[in-house]
Amino acid sequence: MRVLITGAAGFLGSHLCDRFIAEGHTVVGMDNLLTGSMDNLAHLAGHDRFSFIKHDVSQYIYVAGPIDAVLHFASPASPNDYLEYPIPTLKVGSLGTHNTLGLAKHKGARFLLASTSEVYGDPEVNPQPESYWGHVNPIGPRGVYDEAKRFAEAITMAYHRYHGLETRIVRIFNTYGPRMRLNDGRVVPNFIYQALTNQPLTVYGRGTQTRAFQYYSDLIEGIYRLLHSNETLPVNIGNPYTEMSVMELAERIVERARSQSPIICIEPTDDRIVDDPKVRRPDITRARELLGWEPRVPADEGLTQTIDYFRQRL
Ligand code: NAD
Ligand code: UDP
Repeated sequence: MRVLITGAAGFLGSHLCDRFIAEGHTVVGMDNLLTGSMDNLAHLAGHDRFSFIKHDVSQYIYVAGPIDAVLHFASPASPNDYLEYPIPTLKVGSLGTHNTLGLAKHKGARFLLASTSEVYGDPEVNPQPESYWGHVNPIGPRGVYDEAKRFAEAITMAYHRYHGLETRIVRIFNTYGPRMRLNDGRVVPNFIYQALTNQPLTVYGRGTQTRAFQYYSDLIEGIYRLLHSNETLPVNIGNPYTEMSVMELAERIVERARSQSPIICIEPTDDRIVDDPKVRRPDITRARELLGWEPRVPADEGLTQTIDYFRQRL
């Protein structure tokens, strides 16, 4: 296959490029470098099956030659980033998804959308099955991301139903690992960076809110299987076995990094914790049944790998 991956210079996009290259496919990476870095793709420079186009996918997209699959991963993903870039986030989820769908239709390619557990908002049920419609505040600060992704899902289903496009939607739950930026702002890189630089770990609120943390390699495997499946409805990919409070995550990172950092609770005065989901855990029944997929990497192993990566970066 010849595959277009948008958001290729980001954390997940760059790992996806590696997977498709390793499977023998040809990859065209596209990114405007808003939150990504060419460092994540440096090892692919000069590879005969990899090329890169610097482009904002919210603008009309031109790619020469055949394309068999489009994987649309371009979008700010860290709350810090989408709060800093609210309008580019809305545009890439709406216009960017429209453009990438249009390209897929033109090329006769299969399309896979990177959606998110944020479509469930601050959920009233835990764990969240795909059948749950969500609890999103459309006009809150997080709405720029959540509603953009909800629109992206809606237009993806419309291209499937109206144009007969082959589409896939993955709802990704909190994923972490190497190639996240030191200053990404999401909780795992934040805590690891703080632990390794002997700064206090900043728990927002009381730290009772929960997340289930997935190591990137499990996600990439799930995405690869989903693309090759026949499933057009959304599929959750996340690790339900690792649900923990943010306070517990802080304690684990301090322990695994053998850090002396204290853990402090703070109340950010900006928009960062407005509508912060209080619980989150995927129901992965569909991924198990449709894809034969299960997460394999336990939290302690993934965190240790990620701590080692950040130590090297520092
Ligand atoms: P990231 O910020 O590392 O990567 C996003 C990439 O998209 C960056 O390289 C950025 O420069 C690029 N980008 C943003 N706007 C663009 C535009 N208009 N045109 C071209 N490129 C653009 O984030 P990530 O964690 O790798 O997330 C990748 C995708 O996965 C996003 O769509 C995100 O919503 C989704 N996702 C990630 C997680 C997670 O836990 N990591 C969870 C749910 C969903
Ligand atoms: N969080 C925190 N301290 C930090 C960064 C994040 O306590 O330094 C909390 C945040 O309020 C949220 C959780 O960690 O409850 C996960 O935040 P993240 O930004 O990683 O992703 P989210 O799941 O909110 O999209």
